[in-house]
Amino acid sequence: MIVKLAEKRGFCFGVEDAIEIAEAAVREHGPGQVIALGPVIHNPDVVRKLESAGLNQSGDLEQIEDGATILIRSHGAPPQFFERAEEKSLNIVDATCVLVTKAQQAVKHLHEEGYQVVMIGDADHPEVRGVLGYAPDIIVLDSIEEIETKLQRREKLGLVAQTTHSPEHVGEIIGAIAKRPFTEIKIINTLCLEVVRRQEAAVNLCSEVEVMFVLGGLHSANTRELARLCSDQNMETYHLESWSQFNPQMVTGKKIAGVTAGASTPEWIIQEFVEQLRLLEPAAHCATP
Ligand code: SF4
Repeated sequence: MIVKLAEKRGFCFGVEDAIEIAEAAVREHGPGQVIALGPVIHNPDVVRKLESAGLNQSGDLEQIEDGATILIRSHGAPPQFFERAEEKSLNIVDATCVLVTKAQQAVKHLHEEGYQVVMIGDADHPEVRGVLGYAPDIIVLDSIEEIETKLQRREKLGLVAQTTHSPEHVGEIIGAIAKRPFTEIKIINTLCLEVVRRQEAAVNLCSEVEVMFVLGGLHSANTRELARLCSDQNMETYHLESWSQFNPQMVTGKKIAGVTAGASTPEWIIQEFVEQLRLLEPAAHCATP
């Protein structure tokens, strides 16, 4: 099978940094001595690798023994979390991505300047949950329909977006907000260009292939967004975590496949997938009557 790769794909600098920080913390404090607050990144293979190197994981700060060492993952955490960690005398290793920190600070400053802060994003995503703590009355919305139900008429609106959202999606919502009678709308661009470049490369590749494979954790927001954008090109698209989820029927009758991967997908997963896909004989997978 002919396989084409998206020019930009896989690990971003924020994820690479988070993994390096986690590995260094385990080396420094010893296996079993560092507790990550949730998965370091949204990729089960990477999380398993870190666990086998000795990184522990807990979802609940209160369950962690006073004085322990904790790791804040790339998605960041709210300020209240840091305060509680200090009360418990926890040693904090902070792997928050610099772009997530920038979004947190943008929210804080907008609130201090008197804006009603609105975040365009998925309210259940850990990055958004972390950002929420930086402005007490922040509103989260993720669709044009929610504008009517969630936004009261206010004079000053301050907008930010989840770093991994696509400019198209965010732009549609901002356009719809701009049609409402807000006197002032201030937009801080918190979108991650690493993600935007992967999205553009994936969409470009769609015009050259017959089927797209988007590799990455099923809970990874940026990977899901990549898959959605490819589907929006009317492209047959499969979001898989690794080669183990591949099914030959996915390429029935196809000769050229495209492969891209989210920002938390390691290169070894991409390479294994591409090598296996290239071994497939296209003629052997033509549709049978
Ligand atoms: S996708 Fe962007 S915001 Fe998220 S960790 Fe990577 S560089 Fe940071």
